[in-house]
Amino acid sequence: MQRIVILGGGYAGVRAAQEIVRRDLDAETVLVDRGHYHQVVTEMYRVAAGAEEPSGVQLSLRRLLPTNPRLTLLRAEVRSVDCRERTVHTDRGIVPYKYVLLALGGDPEYYGVAGAREHALTLQYLDSAVRVRRRLRALAAAQGGGRIVIVGGGLTGVELASEIAEHAAGKFTLTIVQAAPTILPEEDAKLASYAQGELEKHHIEIRRGEPVTDVLARSVKLKSGAEIPSDLTIWTGGVRANPIPKEAGLPCDGRGRVLVDEQLEAQGHPGVFAAGDIAHVPAPRAPNGLPPTAQLAVQEGRQAGRNIALVLRGEEPKPLHAKILGTAAALGDRHGIAHVGRFRLTGRAGHVMHELALLRYLYGVGGMGLLEREAYLSWARPPREEPASPIADKAGTSV
Ligand SMILES: Cc1cc2nc3c(=O)[nH]c(=O)nc-3n(C[C@H](O)[C@H](O)[C@H](O)COP(=O)(O)OP(=O)(O)OC[C@H]3O[C@@H](n4cnc5c(N)ncnc54)[C@H](O)[C@@H]3O)c2cc1C
Repeated sequence: MQRIVILGGGYAGVRAAQEIVRRDLDAETVLVDRGHYHQVVTEMYRVAAGAEEPSGVQLSLRRLLPTNPRLTLLRAEVRSVDCRERTVHTDRGIVPYKYVLLALGGDPEYYGVAGAREHALTLQYLDSAVRVRRRLRALAAAQGGGRIVIVGGGLTGVELASEIAEHAAGKFTLTIVQAAPTILPEEDAKLASYAQGELEKHHIEIRRGEPVTDVLARSVKLKSGAEIPSDLTIWTGGVRANPIPKEAGLPCDGRGRVLVDEQLEAQGHPGVFAAGDIAHVPAPRAPNGLPPTAQLAVQEGRQAGRNIALVLRGEEPKPLHAKILGTAAALGDRHGIAHVGRFRLTGRAGHVMHELALLRYLYGVGGMGLLEREAYLSWARPPREEPASPIADKAGTSV
């Protein structure tokens, strides 16, 4: 039987697996991830700020995917892909494939800033977000607060700063350092200005047009020569692709993203598909390809899954027609900004839109069952801690 291997159980990988399995193909599908859980990365800032339990952003992969004898969840660390031999190398053995989907997401982009990797924490992974949370608690306990520097004034940096300010009012001195002349440079100017006003209400300092040159253990140095003392530096500066496709010799752009065609197949590598942050997906008015966002990763994963099914049946794969529905960001528990179609929402309406975007995602990936089970529909009930359960794993050292 032919085997489809999906690497990564994130936004793109889970959606691709769901598309493939529901088609009841004459093929075995193996989804490989290093963890048991699909992580709701967009809510990581709440974990870091202490407003959400780590278990609240983890959804069991086993529960999200249908029970199907032709689907195997393999908990393993992917080490490399050999496109000539058509094999995936993991810490649990070698997995041969007929079709592979790379959906391993991204890593923080440090732009070569000295000391950033060593001294700054990020929100890219749950363990790092949990380290931010613990460090904030330790600082509050040991010295009643401290100086926090957030590098990056995009959506993640702004959401995180607002959440920390709201949940630890007065304890921390917060500074956002932004290389661009404005915060939220990719957003509508009115929304960015509203967000800036909200940050200023929380006494969050914003250093705009100030690239960071060095991150040290207790400070951050700026190009202007200024040095900001920092008890905790959090890097939200950007994202680059997971290094595996580049190491596999696949054609990649400057950020390590696999160059795929409109059907999400890697250029010159039939049978190798990529979706999400790991893929450079061409788009008519975007010379750098589609941006790395969860909403696009979902659409790309879905189309990649459909296309693998089509190719397997001997049919032509179809191009992705991506739709950017808008953006929404929370500025603490009650305020937010949102940009949906021609509507620009701020304040409570912006916050509600942000919550609706999360519910929409959860409904899309897990249906009503997930919303009820995870208690997301009831703000009064916190999400339950799920007991650690091993993923059904039919694989030994080799599948
Ligand atoms: C803090 C933060 C906030 C964000 N907020 C938003 C937002 O509000 N809206 C929005 O649209 N986008 C947002 N994004 C971007 C969005 O989260 C990403 O675009 C999205 O997660 C990409 O999905 P993906 O499937 O490509 O990768 P991911 O969702 O990151 O999934 C990758 C999967 O691969 C697995 N994996 C990685 N390497 C290996 C390996 N070697 N072996 C085995 N498994 C591996 C991981 O465990 C993970 O499950 C945010 C990103 C961050 C970091």
